[in-house]
Amino acid sequence: MIPPEATKPAPPHKTRLAPSPTGALHLGNARTFLVNWAIARARGWSILLRIEDLDGPRTKRGADQHAIDTLSWLGIDWDEGPVWQSRDLTPYKHAMHTLARAGLAYPTDLSRADIERWSADAAASAPQDGSHEVRFPPELRPPMTDDSRALGFNDPTRTWRFVAPPGPVPFHDQFAGAQSFDVGAIAGDFIVWTRQGVPAYQLAVTVDDARQGVTQVVRGDDLLDSTSRQILLAEALSLGPRPGYTHLPLVRGPDGRRLAKRHGDTRIDRYRDLGVTPERVIGLLAAWCGITHAPEPMKIGEFRQRLSLDTIPRTPITCRPEDDAWLLNRH
Ligand code: GLU
Repeated sequence: MIPPEATKPAPPHKTRLAPSPTGALHLGNARTFLVNWAIARARGWSILLRIEDLDGPRTKRGADQHAIDTLSWLGIDWDEGPVWQSRDLTPYKHAMHTLARAGLAYPTDLSRADIERWSADAAASAPQDGSHEVRFPPELRPPMTDDSRALGFNDPTRTWRFVAPPGPVPFHDQFAGAQSFDVGAIAGDFIVWTRQGVPAYQLAVTVDDARQGVTQVVRGDDLLDSTSRQILLAEALSLGPRPGYTHLPLVRGPDGRRLAKRHGDTRIDRYRDLGVTPERVIGLLAAWCGITHAPEPMKIGEFRQRLSLDTIPRTPITCRPEDDAWLLNRH
């Protein structure tokens, strides 16, 4: 007789679409959402829509509804949500208490400029230009006292940082293969709670993926090294099995930089307002995913059937002016 455990069905897989309402969806992020959706629908994963609206200064009013409308216009659907991260901070506060009690997070009032100054002195070199992440070295950790751990999470003069252990954090990526990042060497003690009194991206996403039952994370490869940070946090919080990871190469402009406004207006709603059909947008994204050699209008169902991770180019995809012209050439 088969033992009862052997007949138990495997837990269903779940992925999430996680737009940040910081601006309108453009061809680059639409492509990541479309691929995520198509993989999920082809493999029977359920889909959660999560609005990542904790980045107060960058979040734009109405951009959440805008993202929802744009995804729907493309034909992307989901089974659960939308859920907004900002609606309830309790789960993140619980996680912070756990980290603080374990001595794995601490508050600090050191600013980016303070850290840069210290690093420059230590390395006897000029501070880096402001666009790079500044590594927070263990030498700047304050002594752990019960007092510092008792501080609340609403102090606008302090951020909370996670104590990054030294050494590489390896993981397997279903698209990018074997990966490993040494968080201590790259980021040092990274921020988990901000001066604005909200969780930082790394903490929020880790807590949510676990509590919302996400088993598959599909996103752009700009977040590859964040994955090692999220693994460290999940382990520190004993959050259970790791999700599977699939990181896709980003869409870039002809100058090699990540697709953005400087490359022209590639917002999906601009195309929609100009009368471009969803099939045409999906057709371009299908060519970028290696489904076709040249863009041709395609229905989303066909995209789902024909997409394979094997055909997606391993190198960044370039959005060229010809692509915009092709979309607009509707006749
Ligand atoms: N909200 C993030 C973004 O729009 C995605 C975060 C994630 O997938 O972990 O870039």
